[in-house]
Amino acid sequence: MQIRFSGIGIGTSKMEEERVKALVLGSGPAGLSAGLYLARAELNPVILTGLALGGQAALTHTIENYPGFPEGVGGSELGELFQKQAERFGARVDFETASGVDLSTRPFRIWTDSKTYLADSLIITTGASPNQLNVPGETELIGKGVSYCATCDGWFFKDKRVVVVGGGDSALEEGIFLTRYATSVTIIHRRNTLRAGAILQSRAMNNPKIQFVWNSIVTEIKGKDAVTGVELTNVVTNEKTFLPTDGVFIFIGHTPNTQMFQNQLKMNEGGYIEVNMQMHTSIEGVFAAGEAADPHFRQVVTSAGMGAAAAMEAARYLEKVNA
Ligand code: NAP
Repeated sequence: MQIRFSGIGIGTSKMEEERVKALVLGSGPAGLSAGLYLARAELNPVILTGLALGGQAALTHTIENYPGFPEGVGGSELGELFQKQAERFGARVDFETASGVDLSTRPFRIWTDSKTYLADSLIITTGASPNQLNVPGETELIGKGVSYCATCDGWFFKDKRVVVVGGGDSALEEGIFLTRYATSVTIIHRRNTLRAGAILQSRAMNNPKIQFVWNSIVTEIKGKDAVTGVELTNVVTNEKTFLPTDGVFIFIGHTPNTQMFQNQLKMNEGGYIEVNMQMHTSIEGVFAAGEAADPHFRQVVTSAGMGAAAAMEAARYLEKVNA
């Protein structure tokens, strides 16, 4: 049963308040799987989507390693399927972004720009965001040739040259995807061996449109209204070179979206929320799953599994406290 009423929210304005048994923050594979399990436990969960439904997985063109889809599945399509399945059993998806939490009171208070949720249990699945290079030109040229999402922006680089920064699975996967549009994809990596897995390595190495620049970092992105090139610095020789390009795609890892919980929950030094094997955080009744709590696996299948586990534990917790 969800009770809605008006009250005074954080700040001075009058804000709608809603009491929920189980609130999920985030709508990636972890959040939507948690919603599905909570809904099937008849807990009427509410899932706050965050900025976009589906999380990072929805920005991936094709997901080839989520079981049950032998031909692969589109990232946003998978997100929509997760949502549909959770809603079928009674989960509600609110297109809202949490802007603050107070975990020191019970029920927990979570507020967005428009309302305050009072939650008896909370599952945090806020995911992670792409890291930036922090070099001159990067921020100024976002949307003008600098991108962190090949699926979103690849099309704009039809018949153009692009560079990809990074040597992990994301860099190679997205670099291979970009060869659909770009005439050439140059992967810039700071070492001379890749971090990516073997299958992606061999696919990238065998793709005639892909070349590699080893032992190099991007030290400046050049251009005024659009990217015109990158300054590269060889980390072995210190030599600087200019590489002309129309686009710069950056895939150098992620930072968890957990700033909101700082000083409220235990985290490791990377900002990942500490959880035990049952997805319990340092506060009873608060659970975390997916990339916000997982610096290690970061797969759709592992995040979905963590979300399901967190939901089962939240259901147990609610039964225990009779909420
Ligand atoms: P990642 O594995 O952390 O790789 C980041 C890459 O960026 C590394 O090669 C790193 O270099 C480089 N890098 C980091 N900071 C840099 C900087 N300031 N300047 C230049 N280069 C920098 O991140 P990811 O590729 O996003 O993958 C994250 C996780 O998701 C991984 O667990 C990965 O397996 C998983 N993933 C899986 C798939 C798949 O299974 N298909 C697809 C995408 C992602 P070093 O190697 O020198 O550290």
